[in-house]
Amino acid sequence: MGALSYRIDMKDIRFVLFDQFDIDADLKAITKYAEFDIDTYNSMLDEAEKMATQVLAPINGPGDRQGCSLDKAGNVTTPDGFKEAWAALAEGGWLAVNAEPELGGLGLPASINMAIVEMFSGAATAFQMYPGLTVAAARVVAKFGPEGKNTEVATKMFAGQWAGTMCLTEANAGSSVGDNRCKATPVDGQPGTYHLVGEKIFISGGDNDFTENIIHLVLARTPGAPNGTKGLSLFLVPKYNFDGSLNIGERNGAFVVGIEHKMGINGSATCTLALGADKPCNGYLLGKEFDGMALMFHMMNEARIGVGVQGVSLSASAYQYALAYAKDRVQGTSIANFKDADAPRVTINQHPDVRRMLMTIKCQTEAMRSFMIRLGHQLDVAEHTDDKKKAEDYMAEVELLVPVLKSHCSDLSFELAATALQVLGGFGYIGEYPVEQVVRDAKITSVYEGTNGIQAMDLLGRKLRMKGGALFMTWMQNSQKLCGKAAESGFEKEAEAINKSIQSVGGAAMHLGGLGMQGRLDGAMLQAVPFQRMLGTVQLAIESLHQAMVAKKLIDGGRDDEHLRGKLLNLKFYVANILPQAVALGKAVQSGDDSCLDPALFN
Ligand SMILES: Cc1cc2nc3c(=O)[nH]c(=O)nc-3n(C[C@H](O)[C@H](O)[C@H](O)COP(=O)(O)OP(=O)(O)OC[C@H]3O[C@@H](n4cnc5c(N)ncnc54)[C@H](O)[C@@H]3O)c2cc1C
Repeated sequence: MGALSYRIDMKDIRFVLFDQFDIDADLKAITKYAEFDIDTYNSMLDEAEKMATQVLAPINGPGDRQGCSLDKAGNVTTPDGFKEAWAALAEGGWLAVNAEPELGGLGLPASINMAIVEMFSGAATAFQMYPGLTVAAARVVAKFGPEGKNTEVATKMFAGQWAGTMCLTEANAGSSVGDNRCKATPVDGQPGTYHLVGEKIFISGGDNDFTENIIHLVLARTPGAPNGTKGLSLFLVPKYNFDGSLNIGERNGAFVVGIEHKMGINGSATCTLALGADKPCNGYLLGKEFDGMALMFHMMNEARIGVGVQGVSLSASAYQYALAYAKDRVQGTSIANFKDADAPRVTINQHPDVRRMLMTIKCQTEAMRSFMIRLGHQLDVAEHTDDKKKAEDYMAEVELLVPVLKSHCSDLSFELAATALQVLGGFGYIGEYPVEQVVRDAKITSVYEGTNGIQAMDLLGRKLRMKGGALFMTWMQNSQKLCGKAAESGFEKEAEAINKSIQSVGGAAMHLGGLGMQGRLDGAMLQAVPFQRMLGTVQLAIESLHQAMVAKKLIDGGRDDEHLRGKLLNLKFYVANILPQAVALGKAVQSGDDSCLDPALFN
C-alpha cells in the first residue's frame, strides 16, 4: 500500500455550488456580488485546492506528532511548517476571501468561502483553527471595536499580520458562561480602557509564533455588574500594546501560562491565559458595557457555522482516505468465490460490508456539504438582497438550523471518521495512515463552541420558540413543499418517507412543547439531544432529496456521469438505511420515559 494523500471532491463542491444552488445566477441579482461570475469562483476554488493539497496537507501529520510547545516566558512555538503555511495564507489573501473590500478583503460570498474553508480544514484541521478564529474575531472588531481600534485593527487581522482569539472559558465557567469571574476595572481618566484580572483556559491560538500581534476578545465583568450573562462585557485585549498608528509597543499583561496536551488538533495551541497577573493587562471595551454576550454571539455564530464546516471537512477527508485505501487493499475473494481457496483475491471495495461503510460515509458527507452551502448561500442572500421577504425567510432558516449544522455535522464527523478507520481495518488504527488522526481531531468538534448538549438546548428552548414557533413552522412547510415537488418528479417513494419523517419531527416538537407548557422542563430537556439528532437526520434526507432532484434533471437533460448517478443512489441508500433512525428517535422522544431522572441514580 502506498501512502494516502489528501484529496478533495472538487466535482461535488462545484455541483453543490453551481448546479444545486446555482449561486452564480442567484447572486448576480445582488449588487454586492454582481461583478463576480462563475469563472472568478472557479479560479478561486482551483487555487484553494492547490493551497490545501500542496501547502496545508503536508504539515498536518507532522504537526500532529510534533504539537506545540511553551517556553518559560510564555511564548508558544507551533509545529514546523506552520509559520510558512501562515505566511502563504496571508500572502495569498486567504484570510480575507469573504471580508469587505474596505477591510482589504475580496468580498466574495460566504458560500464560496465555506467551500474553501472545507478544503483547508480537511487538509490541516489544527492549523486552520488559527485563521478561522482570527477572521471571526476580526469581524467583531471591525463592527464593534472602539474608535481607532476597529477598521484598522481588523484590516491587520484580515491581512494575517495580527491574529485573533475568543476568550470565554474559565476553570469554573465552561458551558455556564454566565459564571465568568474575570474582572475589568476602569482606568481613571482613560474612558473605555480597563485593567483586566483573571484567568482564561482552553484558549485556541492563545499564542503563536507567526503574527506580530494577537487580539484576544475577552469576556469580563465590570465592578458592580449583575450576575450571569447580563453582567458580561467584551474587551479587546492585545498581546502587545499599540499606538494610534498601530505601531507595536510594550508587552501587555496577557501571558500564556500553560498549554494543554490533547487527544487531537495538536498543532493548535490550547492555552491558559493569565490576565493582569504579573503586569497590568489593558483591555478596551467593545460596544457598550454589558453588551458582552450579544457581541460574543456574533463571533460564536460564525464560529458555530465554522465548526459545522469542520465537521464536513473531516468527514470528507476521512471518506477520501477510506475510498483510496479500499480501492487498493487486496483481501479475500469475492463472496461468489468464497469457497474456492484458489480464487483470485479482490480489493476490499468489492466486499458488500465495505461498500456499506463507504456509502454510509459518502451519502452523509455529501448531504452535509449541501446543508452547509445551503446555509452559507441563505446568509449571502439574506444579508444583501433588497427583497425583504426573502431575506426574512432565509434568515429564519439560518437561525433555526445553525445549532443543527454545528451539532449534527460535528457528531457525524467523529462517527464517520471512525467508520473510515474501520474500512482500513488494523491499518486504520495505526499512525502510519492518516485516518486515526482524523478520528482524534474530529472529537473536539462536538465539545467546543458550546457542547452539542448545549446546542440542543438552544434549539429546543430558544430557536423552536422564536417568533411563536414561526421559524420551525416555516421549516416544516418549506421541507414539505420540496417533498411535494419531488413526488411529481419521480421520487414518490422517497418523498413520502421523508414527508413522514418531517411530520414525526413536528409531532416530537409538539410533544416536547407540551411538556414545557406543563412545567416538565426536565422531561423536555432530557430529549433535547435526541430531538436535535432527529432534526439533523431529516435535514440531511432533505438535502439528499434536493440533490437527487437536481441530478435527475441534469441526467434527463443529457448530462450523465457517475457523480450524478451517485446522487440518485445516495438518496436511495439514505432513505433505506439512515432515515429510519429519525423514526426510531421520534418514538424515543415521545416515549415519555424519564427513568434516568430517578433520584435513586448517579449519586
Ligand atoms: C481543544 C479545545 C479548544 C477550545 N477552544 C476554546 C476557545 O478558543 N475559547 C474558549 O473560550 N473556549 C474554548 N474551549 C472551551 C470549550 O468551549 C469548553 O470546553 C466547552 O464549552 C465545555 O465547557 P467545559 O469543558 O467546562 O464542560 P462543562 O461545561 O463542565 O460540561 C461538561 C458536560 O456537562 C454538560 N452540561 C454542562 N452544563 C449543562 C447544562 N446546563 N445542561 C445540560 N448539560 C450541561 C455538557 O454538555 C458536557 O457534556 C476549548 C476547549 C477545548 C478542549
